[in-house]
Amino acid sequence: MIAAYFIQVSYIAAAGLFILSLRWLSHPTTARRGVRVGELGMLLAIVGTLVHREIVSYQWILVGFVLGSAIGLPLAVFMPMTHVPQRTALSHAFGALAAGLVGTSEYYLHTGQLTAFTMAVLSLEVILGYMTFTGSLMAFGKLQGLVPSRPIVYKGQNVVNLSLLALAVGIAVYLVVNPGRSELFPAVAGLSLLFGVLLIVPIGGADMPTVIALLNSYAGLSAAAMGFALDNNLLIVAGALDGSSGFILSVIMCRAMNRSFTNVLFGGFGQVQVAVGAAEQRSVRGATPEEAAAILEAASSVIVVPGYGMAVAQAQHKVRELYDLLTRRGVDVKFAIHPVAGRMPGHMNVLLAEADIPYDRLIEMEEINPEFPRADVALVIGANDVTNPAARHDKTSPIYGMPILDVDKARTVMVIKRSMSPGFAGIDNELYYMDRTMMLFGDAKVFAGELMKELTGTRVGS
Ligand code: NAP
Repeated sequence: MIAAYFIQVSYIAAAGLFILSLRWLSHPTTARRGVRVGELGMLLAIVGTLVHREIVSYQWILVGFVLGSAIGLPLAVFMPMTHVPQRTALSHAFGALAAGLVGTSEYYLHTGQLTAFTMAVLSLEVILGYMTFTGSLMAFGKLQGLVPSRPIVYKGQNVVNLSLLALAVGIAVYLVVNPGRSELFPAVAGLSLLFGVLLIVPIGGADMPTVIALLNSYAGLSAAAMGFALDNNLLIVAGALDGSSGFILSVIMCRAMNRSFTNVLFGGFGQVQVAVGAAEQRSVRGATPEEAAAILEAASSVIVVPGYGMAVAQAQHKVRELYDLLTRRGVDVKFAIHPVAGRMPGHMNVLLAEADIPYDRLIEMEEINPEFPRADVALVIGANDVTNPAARHDKTSPIYGMPILDVDKARTVMVIKRSMSPGFAGIDNELYYMDRTMMLFGDAKVFAGELMKELTGTRVGS
């Protein structure tokens, strides 16, 4: 009786903490608190579950705990920040596998006594759990370069994939009506595992973060279904939170890229690089670190626009040094944050926070855009698509309609990148050919270091 009461109280507290955690995670200043509170909620949920009277053996739980920690701890410690998307995919894979296995064991433990409702939620749990398991493993493989990251497409692919899913759902529906036909259950599990793989095959590696957010949502729904099957309120709440937040995140990402869900899931984006075309004929203005430093010296306001290249070069610490130096010299330095800069949501926030750039210097796109016309310099560091003015006016462009950072409106635009290679969308950027744009060719970290040397050298010499 006391145990049952304790479980309910800890579950209610955990559910409240999960909600607070999500709320606080949505802003950089409160994100750390959000993580701590989420961890506390999870601890309460686990402790509450451990006093459950139906627990048969603590030894096996201990074995699971040791095994899980042996995998989870190194993952958390050694996985670099730039590998967070694949790390997240791997966590989803484990969570979804757990849901699928619990569903399977529930089915075989209670075959013959299952109501239609329980069988329906078990089927949902197993289909979503297993397809998310293999789908997340594939997403991990694509991001980690273990399987080819380009989209693999063939004629009739969507029909094949959707027919497979329809078959799994059809058998599950048959099982709801005839739960005793246990020989059909492995077919549901097997088809779901196969569907997960085939779902990811036509999606390019760079679209994986959006797909991972969507898989997160499926894993959440699977956990919520498990909650119904096990009559566990906390699983229902946590699964619903997970399912809805994952879904909302993928909607936000699709909107910020001006792409539809169907385009991400079935579009084969990134399959063929769009020709850079006439780009080679047009000329750009390259500049040296000395020239760039001279302009920065004279500037009173600088907006730094970080992008994927800053993450690749791991240039955030050098950028921080540059920020410190310019700020000490009285320059107003701000960072413009595009919602899909980089390759995962919050990518730039995470990197800049890692380098201890003050949060109040990180300004979101809608707020910073009106400031570009007043800025002396827009310093673009490894960002490309999120600055491409074609998104505003070129109806033929694949990124037409995507909201961008208005860097082209600044008095001087400096772009640090290694070459004229395109970014994620595979298209040329007209920003580079503008009269007031200076191309600073080089690796972001190396170039930022050279700028620092020039700036400090100028100061020493002056
Ligand atoms: P981007 O358009 O992909 O461009 C990145 C640029 O960085 C490249 O043009 C590359 O040019 C440069 N670069 C790479 N390594 C570099 C290095 N070591 N030093 C300097 N520059 C380097 O990046 P973005 O402007 O951040 O835009 C993000 C894109 O990803 C958008 O199209 C977005 O829709 C997409 N996306 C984002 C997310 C997300 O959640 N954030 C998810 C999926 C897709 P060089 O090779 O010439 O150096």
